[in-house]
Amino acid sequence: MKITLLEPPRKAAPDRSNDIANTTLSACLNSGYAAAVLEKAGHQVRIIEGYMEGMDWNDVERSIARSQPELLAVHMVYNWDDNRELYAFLSKVKEEFGIRYVAAYGYYPTFAAREILTACESIDYILVGEIENTFLDLASNPNDPVFIQGLAYRDPYAKRGVRMSMGKLVANLDDLPFPIRSASSMPGGEVNILGSRGCYGSCTFCYINPYYGLRGENGETVGRWRPRSPQNIVDEIDQISLETGADYFYFTDPNFYGPGKRGRERVLHLAELLEGRHIRFGIEARANDIEPETIRALKKAGLQDILVGLESGRDESLERLGKKTSVADNERALAVLRENGIEPSVGFIMFEPDSSLEDLRVNFDFLKRNRLLDRLETAVNVLYHHQIILQGSPSYNILRDEGKLILSDHSEYEAETSYELPGTAAMAEAMRRITNHIFDYMQDTWQLSADGDDTIRETYDKISVLLSDSFEKALDLVEHSGPAALEKSDFVQKVNDTVDRIAGRS
Ligand code: SF4
Repeated sequence: MKITLLEPPRKAAPDRSNDIANTTLSACLNSGYAAAVLEKAGHQVRIIEGYMEGMDWNDVERSIARSQPELLAVHMVYNWDDNRELYAFLSKVKEEFGIRYVAAYGYYPTFAAREILTACESIDYILVGEIENTFLDLASNPNDPVFIQGLAYRDPYAKRGVRMSMGKLVANLDDLPFPIRSASSMPGGEVNILGSRGCYGSCTFCYINPYYGLRGENGETVGRWRPRSPQNIVDEIDQISLETGADYFYFTDPNFYGPGKRGRERVLHLAELLEGRHIRFGIEARANDIEPETIRALKKAGLQDILVGLESGRDESLERLGKKTSVADNERALAVLRENGIEPSVGFIMFEPDSSLEDLRVNFDFLKRNRLLDRLETAVNVLYHHQIILQGSPSYNILRDEGKLILSDHSEYEAETSYELPGTAAMAEAMRRITNHIFDYMQDTWQLSADGDDTIRETYDKISVLLSDSFEKALDLVEHSGPAALEKSDFVQKVNDTVDRIAGRS
């Protein structure tokens, strides 16, 4: 079968600068893995890298005209607008080129299959959850969805008009062929690589495990972490290095470490295999897994970047978030990494829907005490991040059941909720406006800063001090005079004007 996988053009959303993307990093290899399994099964597959290659819809149309697929499958990544353009495009090309089947896959379609099938008549199928097995079944039997596990499709006899099942999980990730990568999917020679899927954690704000559809006896989501073997990972790295000369790899795993002793032993084994290959790499991990032996080994093997999900500086918040870590774990993780010469990026949720002013104060003190406000790149993230509420996550379900979700008119996928306390709401709004303004300035200077440009670094340092002072002053104001004092003052405007002055933009 002739199949085209489309990574559609995606627009940047300036007011989303400080939001964690609403599809996870692990999704970036979806199309590559789907293409690899389909090609191995004898299908003719093409990936259109509309996003990475900066295509517009006309470019994509020309590309589809060249490949003339029978099945066009679109990877729906972010859902920040109503996708109207994409849906109109799919309808047009389906008719124009006589494409028999149009499908969608990814995190957003998995959780919002019904919504998409309602909004776009041209989409015949949604692949729900893990995609490889479903793609194989669909490609060999596209006419008969009834027998395919992992599809959502219209059926007048099904509940609310859509029949749906979760994709069958790949039993052993080593059995998957290496994903197909185009040159454009490796910008600057950086290669994304998958070492595991899922997570043994069960944070309330996360939908990694619900994406795979893992349920416990009472229907609750359960965490399961599935690894590739170290040897299989290293074989792929060797192949990529040989073919492209790439020497930087970023693991897309939501949680690089597996649970417990076996998880640590696997990391040590992988580090041993990576050592001597002269590569550098990045990973993402939970704070409780960071300990001296594995970090030392990883550092020796080339570990350069790490994102640690600290999430909060207060134990009560960590408990609310279901993180199953403590502030002591967080501080220990930071110390271990720094002892090994690694300055981590951190995941941090400053604003939860039910955060109190005391939570904000304790978080701020934690960040300051742990020198996480010194670099603007970190400060601008941690001083605003709010909890994103995505369909599929336990928080979404709880807030929905409590009647607290605010849904947009185009989608139920990403919801909002009001802050319980007006003081927290006023702080969140002020910090959102200030950090977005700073992000706007950083967009054009980020690379210069990363390259160590002295003038830009000096400017960043000044803005970083201003930003943390502003957070503290705003909090003082709300604590002593109430939220209205912050809302009615021109506090935010004054901070943003000062940012412009420091940056030489006014
Ligand atoms: S540790 Fe990370 S990946 Fe695992 S459930 Fe929590 S947020 Fe999700």
